[in-house]
Amino acid sequence: MSGATRPDLCDDLKDIPVGPMPEGGCAACIELGDTWVHLRFCLTCGVVGCCDDSKNQHARKHAAIGGHPTIRSKEPGEFWAYCYTHDMARALRPRRDTKPGD
Ligand SMILES: [Zn+2]
Ligand SMILES: [Zn+2]
Ligand SMILES: [Zn+2]
Repeated sequence: MSGATRPDLCDDLKDIPVGPMPEGGCAACIELGDTWVHLRFCLTCGVVGCCDDSKNQHARKHAAIGGHPTIRSKEPGEFWAYCYTHDMARALRPRRDTKPGD
C-alpha cells in the first residue's frame, strides 16, 4: 500500500538515554497486591510500570496520565524503547560498562 509515508522513528524515540535502571518492580502493583508480567521504565521520569500483558498496564496508564510517551523495557537482556503516542519501537544498543582493568 502506498499512502502517507510513516516515518521510521518519531521524534520521541530519536534520542533515548541509555542509563542505569532502578531496581524493583511496579510500585503501583505492589501497592495493590497485584503481580505483573513484564516491567517498563518511563524514559521521562524514571517510573517503573508494568507492561500491556499485565493486568494493570501501569506503564501505559502512566504514559497517558503523565504525558510521558516513551518507555524502555526493564527486562534483563531486552534493549528496546517504545512510544505509546505513535505506537513505534526501536532497538537500543546494549550499554557497555567499562570495567577497570578490563
Ligand atoms: Zn512518539
Ligand atoms: Zn503495575
Ligand atoms: Zn514518567
